[in-house]
Amino acid sequence: MKLDSIKIQQNYEKILEDIKKYSPYPEKVKILFVSKYFDVEEHKALIEMGYDYFGENRAQLYRDKLSEFSDEKYKNIKWDFIGRLQKNKIKYIINSVNLIHSIDSYELLDEINKKAIENDRIINGLIQVNVSKEESKTGVYIEDFKKDSEKYFSMSNVKIIGFMTMAPFEASESEINDYFLNMRKLKEEYQKQHDYVTEISMGMSNDYVEALKNGATIIRIGSKLFE
Ligand SMILES: *Cc1c(COP(=O)(O)O)cnc(C)c1O
Repeated sequence: MKLDSIKIQQNYEKILEDIKKYSPYPEKVKILFVSKYFDVEEHKALIEMGYDYFGENRAQLYRDKLSEFSDEKYKNIKWDFIGRLQKNKIKYIINSVNLIHSIDSYELLDEINKKAIENDRIINGLIQVNVSKEESKTGVYIEDFKKDSEKYFSMSNVKIIGFMTMAPFEASESEINDYFLNMRKLKEEYQKQHDYVTEISMGMSNDYVEALKNGATIIRIGSKLFE
């Protein structure tokens, strides 16, 4: 793909404007540039343009890509993981990941914690919530999380700093609003108990405005930036 830097910048600035327009706390909101669409050369071009916060969704590709960014000049680039994570692939991301958005079960969390201990790392993570209870989606149901939430916060080497969700693709605007509002309430409830619970990762190219209105702090944007 030929990257059009001017177009990307215009799109990025439009989203920054939307953050100011729609978010109750614009200064807290980050745009995660979802970079799964790009190969290494394209990705290097994006970094040249000044972008420095990226999200990848495949553990193996994450590992392969990051091996190309070991140079000193890439040391301030932040890499988040946003995709489904199999336990046997945690090792591909554990030493470099900035934030894991997609911790979709207690078992996975426990396994990440073990790998974090082995590698002497403290990992920041988000619990992925299946807010719409769609069967095709992974994630913890809100009521299951609430039943024994404290076990999620008891890990020695994984700090749960918030929640992530994906709204169903076919949901109406008002349904999406309800889902996102539930996420905000969930985060606020747990922030009272753990002041480091500050993040809500929600909103993609097609629903980030609703996410912003409902207090998202990280919006995960891919196609909207380059299309
Ligand atoms: C691909 C992806 C995104 C970005 O999707 P766009 O519609 O291209 O903005 C966000 N979150 C996750 C988990 C993804 O896999």
